[in-house]
Amino acid sequence: MTHRNHFASDNCSGMCPEAVQSMLHANPGYEVSYGEDHWTAQVCEELRAVFETDCEIFFVFNGTAANSLALSALCQSYNSIICADTSHVETDECGAPEFFTNGAKLLLGKEIDGKLQPESIETIARSGREIHFPKPRVVSVTQATELGTVYTPAELHSIHAAAQKYNLRIHMDGARFANALAHLNVSPKEISWQCGVDVLCLGGTKNGLAVGDAMIFFNKALAEDFAYRCKQAGQLASKMRFLAAPWIGLLKNGTWLKNAAHANQSAAALEARLEKIPELKILMPCQANSVFVRMPPALIHSLHEKGWHFYNFIGEDGVRLMCSWNTREEDIEEFVADIKYSLSKA
Ligand SMILES: *Cc1c(COP(=O)(O)O)cnc(C)c1O
Repeated sequence: MTHRNHFASDNCSGMCPEAVQSMLHANPGYEVSYGEDHWTAQVCEELRAVFETDCEIFFVFNGTAANSLALSALCQSYNSIICADTSHVETDECGAPEFFTNGAKLLLGKEIDGKLQPESIETIARSGREIHFPKPRVVSVTQATELGTVYTPAELHSIHAAAQKYNLRIHMDGARFANALAHLNVSPKEISWQCGVDVLCLGGTKNGLAVGDAMIFFNKALAEDFAYRCKQAGQLASKMRFLAAPWIGLLKNGTWLKNAAHANQSAAALEARLEKIPELKILMPCQANSVFVRMPPALIHSLHEKGWHFYNFIGEDGVRLMCSWNTREEDIEEFVADIKYSLSKA
Protein backbone atom coordinates (compact mmCIF):
# COMPACT_ATOMS: atom_id res chain seq x y z
CA MET A 1 0.00 0.00 0.00
CA THR A 2 1.65 3.18 -1.12
CA HIS A 3 0.96 6.66 0.06
CA ARG A 4 -0.20 8.72 -2.83
CA ASN A 5 0.26 12.42 -3.30
CA HIS A 6 -2.79 12.52 -1.09
CA PHE A 7 -5.37 15.08 -0.07
CA ALA A 8 -5.07 14.91 3.72
CA SER A 9 -3.73 18.39 4.26
CA ASP A 10 -1.80 21.18 2.64
CA ASN A 11 0.85 20.60 5.30
CA CYS A 12 1.66 17.22 3.75
CA SER A 13 3.51 19.00 0.93
CA GLY A 14 7.16 19.90 1.06
CA MET A 15 8.75 23.29 0.65
CA CYS A 16 8.21 25.08 -2.63
CA PRO A 17 11.43 25.50 -4.68
CA GLU A 18 11.53 29.27 -4.15
CA ALA A 19 11.52 28.85 -0.37
CA VAL A 20 14.19 26.16 -0.57
CA GLN A 21 16.35 28.48 -2.66
CA SER A 22 16.09 31.29 -0.12
CA MET A 23 16.83 28.91 2.71
CA LEU A 24 19.98 27.69 0.95
CA HIS A 25 20.94 31.26 0.18
CA ALA A 26 20.83 32.09 3.90
CA ASN A 27 22.83 29.05 4.93
CA PRO A 28 26.52 29.79 4.31
CA GLY A 29 28.62 31.50 6.91
CA TYR A 30 27.75 33.03 10.24
CA GLU A 31 24.80 35.17 11.21
CA VAL A 32 23.68 36.96 14.31
CA SER A 33 21.17 34.84 16.21
CA TYR A 34 17.74 35.32 17.83
CA GLY A 35 16.27 37.44 15.07
CA GLU A 36 18.90 40.15 14.98
CA ASP A 37 20.04 38.97 11.55
CA HIS A 38 19.59 40.87 8.31
CA TRP A 39 17.38 38.20 6.74
CA THR A 40 14.79 38.68 9.43
CA ALA A 41 15.00 42.46 9.06
CA GLN A 42 14.56 42.15 5.31
CA VAL A 43 11.47 39.95 5.55
CA CYS A 44 9.90 42.31 8.08
CA GLU A 45 10.44 45.20 5.68
CA GLU A 46 8.98 43.20 2.79
CA LEU A 47 5.91 42.24 4.83
CA ARG A 48 5.37 45.89 5.77
CA ALA A 49 5.47 46.71 2.07
CA VAL A 50 3.05 43.87 1.26
CA PHE A 51 0.59 45.11 3.88
CA GLU A 52 1.25 48.75 3.05
CA THR A 53 1.55 49.82 6.66
CA ASP A 54 3.90 49.99 9.57
CA CYS A 55 3.56 46.99 11.89
CA GLU A 56 5.46 44.83 14.37
CA ILE A 57 6.39 41.35 13.14
CA PHE A 58 7.49 38.18 14.92
CA PHE A 59 8.22 34.69 13.65
CA VAL A 60 7.20 31.58 15.55
CA PHE A 61 7.39 27.89 14.72
CA ASN A 62 3.76 27.11 14.03
CA GLY A 63 0.19 28.27 13.92
CA THR A 64 -0.87 27.00 17.30
CA ALA A 65 1.87 29.06 18.95
CA ALA A 66 1.05 32.07 16.81
CA ASN A 67 -2.66 32.00 17.64
CA SER A 68 -2.21 31.27 21.33
CA LEU A 69 0.47 33.88 21.87
CA ALA A 70 -1.47 36.45 19.87
CA LEU A 71 -4.51 35.86 22.04
CA SER A 72 -2.38 36.11 25.16
CA ALA A 73 -1.26 39.56 24.00
CA LEU A 74 -4.83 40.62 23.24
CA CYS A 75 -6.50 39.85 26.51
CA GLN A 76 -6.18 39.21 30.22
CA SER A 77 -6.81 35.93 32.01
CA TYR A 78 -10.29 37.13 33.09
CA ASN A 79 -11.32 37.90 29.51
CA SER A 80 -13.11 35.85 26.89
CA ILE A 81 -12.57 35.34 23.18
CA ILE A 82 -15.48 34.99 20.79
CA CYS A 83 -14.84 32.55 17.95
CA ALA A 84 -16.72 30.13 15.70
CA ASP A 85 -17.30 26.67 17.12
CA THR A 86 -15.46 25.30 14.09
CA SER A 87 -12.35 27.43 14.70
CA HIS A 88 -8.89 25.92 14.94
CA VAL A 89 -8.27 27.70 18.27
CA GLU A 90 -11.25 25.80 19.67
CA THR A 91 -10.93 22.41 18.04
CA ASP A 92 -7.29 21.83 17.17
CA GLU A 93 -4.95 23.52 19.61
CA CYS A 94 -5.22 21.28 22.66
CA GLY A 95 -6.27 24.17 24.89
CA ALA A 96 -3.16 26.20 24.06
CA PRO A 97 -5.15 29.47 23.78
CA GLU A 98 -6.56 28.94 27.29
CA PHE A 99 -3.14 27.86 28.54
CA PHE A 100 -1.17 30.80 27.15
CA THR A 101 -3.80 33.34 28.17
CA ASN A 102 -3.73 31.85 31.66
CA GLY A 103 -7.37 30.93 31.49
CA ALA A 104 -9.24 33.24 29.15
CA LYS A 105 -12.39 31.50 28.00
CA LEU A 106 -13.30 30.76 24.40
CA LEU A 107 -16.96 31.57 23.77
CA LEU A 108 -18.37 29.77 20.77
CA GLY A 109 -20.39 31.84 18.37
CA LYS A 110 -22.67 30.72 15.60
CA GLU A 111 -21.09 30.13 12.23
CA ILE A 112 -22.47 29.60 8.79
CA ASP A 113 -20.18 27.59 6.52
CA GLY A 114 -17.39 28.24 9.00
CA LYS A 115 -17.89 32.02 9.15
CA LEU A 116 -18.56 33.62 12.51
CA GLN A 117 -21.78 35.63 12.36
CA PRO A 118 -21.67 39.26 13.54
CA GLU A 119 -25.10 38.96 15.22
CA SER A 120 -23.71 36.11 17.25
CA ILE A 121 -20.81 38.29 18.41
CA GLU A 122 -23.33 40.82 19.67
CA THR A 123 -25.51 38.20 21.33
CA ILE A 124 -22.55 36.80 23.21
CA ALA A 125 -21.11 40.20 24.09
CA ARG A 126 -24.48 41.20 25.57
CA SER A 127 -25.22 37.95 27.34
CA GLY A 128 -22.62 38.17 30.08
CA ARG A 129 -23.58 38.28 33.73
CA GLU A 130 -21.29 41.25 34.25
CA ILE A 131 -18.70 40.71 36.97
CA HIS A 132 -19.67 37.03 37.14
CA PHE A 133 -18.74 36.28 33.54
CA PRO A 134 -15.36 36.43 31.75
CA LYS A 135 -15.38 39.83 30.08
CA PRO A 136 -15.43 39.58 26.26
CA ARG A 137 -12.34 41.25 24.81
CA VAL A 138 -11.42 39.55 21.53
CA VAL A 139 -13.07 38.28 18.39
CA SER A 140 -11.12 35.58 16.59
CA VAL A 141 -11.80 34.83 12.93
CA THR A 142 -10.08 32.48 10.52
CA GLN A 143 -9.39 33.58 6.95
CA ALA A 144 -9.81 31.36 4.89
CA THR A 145 -12.04 29.41 7.30
CA GLU A 146 -11.60 25.86 8.51
CA LEU A 147 -14.43 24.89 6.17
CA GLY A 148 -12.73 26.27 3.08
CA THR A 149 -14.86 29.40 2.79
CA VAL A 150 -13.63 32.98 2.59
CA TYR A 151 -14.91 36.09 4.38
CA THR A 152 -15.52 38.94 1.95
CA PRO A 153 -14.24 42.41 2.93
CA ALA A 154 -17.88 43.42 3.57
CA GLU A 155 -18.34 40.51 5.97
CA LEU A 156 -15.15 41.44 7.80
CA HIS A 157 -16.37 45.03 8.05
CA SER A 158 -19.58 43.79 9.68
CA ILE A 159 -17.55 41.80 12.17
CA HIS A 160 -15.43 44.86 12.83
CA ALA A 161 -18.53 46.97 13.44
CA ALA A 162 -19.87 44.44 15.94
CA ALA A 163 -16.47 44.24 17.64
CA GLN A 164 -16.17 48.02 17.89
CA LYS A 165 -19.58 48.29 19.49
CA TYR A 166 -18.37 46.18 22.41
CA ASN A 167 -14.75 47.32 22.45
CA LEU A 168 -13.45 43.96 21.25
CA ARG A 169 -10.10 43.45 19.58
CA ILE A 170 -9.74 41.31 16.47
CA HIS A 171 -7.42 38.37 15.98
CA MET A 172 -7.20 36.73 12.58
CA ASP A 173 -5.96 33.17 12.15
CA GLY A 174 -4.46 33.41 8.67
CA ALA A 175 -3.09 29.91 8.29
CA ARG A 176 -4.58 30.13 4.77
CA PHE A 177 -4.65 33.91 4.39
CA ALA A 178 -2.97 33.65 0.97
CA ASN A 179 -5.72 31.33 -0.25
CA ALA A 180 -8.28 33.94 0.79
CA LEU A 181 -6.34 36.66 -1.05
CA ALA A 182 -6.11 34.54 -4.18
CA HIS A 183 -9.84 33.87 -4.06
CA LEU A 184 -10.90 37.47 -3.47
CA ASN A 185 -8.25 39.09 -5.64
CA VAL A 186 -7.90 41.98 -3.20
CA SER A 187 -4.83 43.51 -1.59
CA PRO A 188 -3.69 42.18 1.79
CA LYS A 189 -4.63 45.38 3.64
CA GLU A 190 -8.24 45.12 2.47
CA ILE A 191 -8.87 41.99 4.51
CA SER A 192 -6.61 42.75 7.45
CA TRP A 193 -5.98 46.11 9.11
CA GLN A 194 -8.53 47.95 7.02
CA CYS A 195 -11.11 45.62 8.57
CA GLY A 196 -9.85 46.32 12.06
CA VAL A 197 -7.62 43.30 12.49
CA ASP A 198 -5.25 43.98 15.40
CA VAL A 199 -3.09 40.89 14.98
CA LEU A 200 -2.81 38.59 11.97
CA CYS A 201 -1.18 35.17 12.28
CA LEU A 202 0.08 34.75 8.75
CA GLY A 203 0.65 31.11 7.91
CA GLY A 204 3.59 30.11 5.78
CA THR A 205 3.68 26.36 6.33
CA LYS A 206 0.64 25.45 4.26
CA ASN A 207 1.68 27.86 1.55
CA GLY A 208 5.07 26.24 0.89
CA LEU A 209 7.42 26.76 3.83
CA ALA A 210 8.83 23.99 5.97
CA VAL A 211 8.02 25.74 9.20
CA GLY A 212 7.32 29.19 10.56
CA ASP A 213 4.42 31.58 10.78
CA ALA A 214 4.63 35.36 10.82
CA MET A 215 2.75 37.27 13.48
CA ILE A 216 1.80 40.72 12.32
CA PHE A 217 0.75 43.31 14.89
CA PHE A 218 -1.03 46.12 13.08
CA ASN A 219 -1.87 47.43 16.52
CA LYS A 220 1.72 48.07 17.53
CA ALA A 221 0.92 48.91 21.13
CA LEU A 222 -0.16 45.30 21.65
CA ALA A 223 3.30 44.09 20.66
CA GLU A 224 4.90 45.60 23.74
CA ASP A 225 7.14 43.02 25.41
CA PHE A 226 5.83 40.40 22.97
CA ALA A 227 9.35 39.11 22.30
CA TYR A 228 9.43 37.99 25.94
CA ARG A 229 6.25 35.95 25.49
CA CYS A 230 7.79 34.23 22.47
CA LYS A 231 10.96 33.43 24.36
CA GLN A 232 9.12 32.19 27.45
CA ALA A 233 6.93 29.95 25.28
CA GLY A 234 9.96 28.39 23.62
CA GLN A 235 9.12 30.10 20.36
CA LEU A 236 12.19 32.25 19.86
CA ALA A 237 14.31 30.46 17.25
CA SER A 238 18.00 30.98 17.84
CA LYS A 239 18.75 30.39 14.15
CA MET A 240 15.93 32.75 13.23
CA ARG A 241 17.30 33.30 9.75
CA PHE A 242 15.96 29.86 8.80
CA LEU A 243 12.43 30.80 9.81
CA ALA A 244 12.68 34.18 8.14
CA ALA A 245 14.72 33.72 4.96
CA PRO A 246 12.36 31.29 3.19
CA TRP A 247 9.71 34.03 3.27
CA ILE A 248 11.90 35.97 0.84
CA GLY A 249 11.39 33.29 -1.79
CA LEU A 250 7.71 33.11 -0.95
CA LEU A 251 7.09 36.84 -1.28
CA LYS A 252 9.31 37.48 -4.29
CA ASN A 253 7.32 37.84 -7.53
CA GLY A 254 4.15 36.97 -5.62
CA THR A 255 5.07 33.30 -5.26
CA TRP A 256 2.88 32.98 -2.14
CA LEU A 257 -0.12 34.14 -4.15
CA LYS A 258 0.74 31.86 -7.07
CA ASN A 259 1.07 28.93 -4.68
CA ALA A 260 -2.29 29.75 -3.14
CA ALA A 261 -3.97 30.30 -6.50
CA HIS A 262 -2.66 26.96 -7.71
CA ALA A 263 -4.01 25.22 -4.61
CA ASN A 264 -7.38 26.96 -5.01
CA GLN A 265 -7.59 26.09 -8.71
CA SER A 266 -6.72 22.48 -7.95
CA ALA A 267 -9.54 22.30 -5.42
CA ALA A 268 -11.93 23.82 -7.95
CA ALA A 269 -10.84 21.27 -10.55
CA LEU A 270 -11.31 18.44 -8.08
CA GLU A 271 -14.72 19.75 -7.07
CA ALA A 272 -15.81 20.00 -10.71
CA ARG A 273 -15.02 16.32 -11.22
CA LEU A 274 -16.55 15.13 -7.95
CA GLU A 275 -19.72 17.12 -8.55
CA LYS A 276 -20.50 14.94 -11.56
CA ILE A 277 -20.47 11.72 -9.53
CA PRO A 278 -24.03 11.09 -8.32
CA GLU A 279 -23.01 9.09 -5.23
CA LEU A 280 -21.13 12.11 -3.86
CA LYS A 281 -22.40 15.39 -2.48
CA ILE A 282 -20.40 18.60 -2.19
CA LEU A 283 -20.97 19.98 1.32
CA MET A 284 -19.37 23.44 1.30
CA PRO A 285 -18.83 26.20 -1.22
CA CYS A 286 -15.31 25.63 -2.57
CA GLN A 287 -13.64 29.03 -2.25
CA ALA A 288 -10.15 28.23 -1.04
CA ASN A 289 -8.09 25.05 -1.40
CA SER A 290 -10.37 22.42 0.12
CA VAL A 291 -13.29 20.35 -1.06
CA PHE A 292 -15.74 19.00 1.51
CA VAL A 293 -17.68 16.09 0.15
CA ARG A 294 -20.01 13.44 1.48
CA MET A 295 -18.93 9.96 0.44
CA PRO A 296 -20.49 6.57 1.15
CA PRO A 297 -18.50 5.08 4.09
CA ALA A 298 -17.61 2.01 1.99
CA LEU A 299 -16.01 4.29 -0.58
CA ILE A 300 -14.00 6.13 2.06
CA HIS A 301 -12.79 2.77 3.30
CA SER A 302 -11.75 1.51 -0.11
CA LEU A 303 -9.93 4.76 -0.95
CA HIS A 304 -8.00 4.51 2.31
CA GLU A 305 -7.17 0.92 1.40
CA LYS A 306 -5.78 2.14 -1.90
CA GLY A 307 -3.41 4.40 0.00
CA TRP A 308 -5.23 7.70 -0.28
CA HIS A 309 -4.91 9.56 2.98
CA PHE A 310 -7.55 12.13 3.96
CA TYR A 311 -9.66 13.03 6.96
CA ASN A 312 -13.29 12.72 7.93
CA PHE A 313 -14.26 16.19 8.97
CA ILE A 314 -18.00 16.60 9.07
CA GLY A 315 -19.69 13.65 10.75
CA GLU A 316 -19.00 10.11 9.68
CA ASP A 317 -19.11 10.55 5.94
CA GLY A 318 -18.11 14.17 5.28
CA VAL A 319 -14.47 14.20 4.19
CA ARG A 320 -12.10 17.07 3.63
CA LEU A 321 -9.84 16.99 0.59
CA MET A 322 -7.07 19.56 0.62
CA CYS A 323 -4.99 20.75 -2.29
CA SER A 324 -1.68 22.54 -2.06
CA TRP A 325 0.93 24.36 -4.08
CA ASN A 326 2.13 21.07 -5.57
CA THR A 327 -1.10 19.21 -6.25
CA ARG A 328 -0.83 17.83 -9.76
CA GLU A 329 -3.50 17.34 -12.40
CA GLU A 330 -2.53 13.63 -12.44
CA ASP A 331 -3.19 13.33 -8.69
CA ILE A 332 -6.72 14.55 -9.24
CA GLU A 333 -7.28 12.29 -12.25
CA GLU A 334 -5.94 9.27 -10.43
CA PHE A 335 -8.04 9.96 -7.34
CA VAL A 336 -11.22 10.44 -9.34
CA ALA A 337 -10.48 7.29 -11.35
CA ASP A 338 -10.12 5.33 -8.11
CA ILE A 339 -13.41 6.72 -6.84
CA LYS A 340 -15.18 5.68 -10.03
CA TYR A 341 -13.61 2.26 -9.99
CA SER A 342 -14.51 1.65 -6.33
CA LEU A 343 -18.09 2.76 -6.89
CA SER A 344 -18.42 0.49 -9.92
CA LYS A 345 -17.38 -2.48 -7.76
CA ALA A 346 -19.76 -1.64 -4.94
C1 LIG B 1 -2.98 24.45 10.12
C2 LIG B 1 -3.77 25.49 10.83
C3 LIG B 1 -3.20 26.22 11.88
C4 LIG B 1 -1.80 25.97 12.39
O1 LIG B 1 -1.62 24.71 12.88
P1 LIG B 1 -0.19 24.22 13.41
O2 LIG B 1 -0.27 22.75 13.22
O3 LIG B 1 -0.10 24.61 14.83
O4 LIG B 1 0.84 24.88 12.59
C5 LIG B 1 -3.94 27.24 12.43
N1 LIG B 1 -5.17 27.52 12.00
C6 LIG B 1 -5.76 26.84 11.01
C7 LIG B 1 -7.12 27.21 10.54
C8 LIG B 1 -5.08 25.78 10.40
O5 LIG B 1 -5.67 25.10 9.41
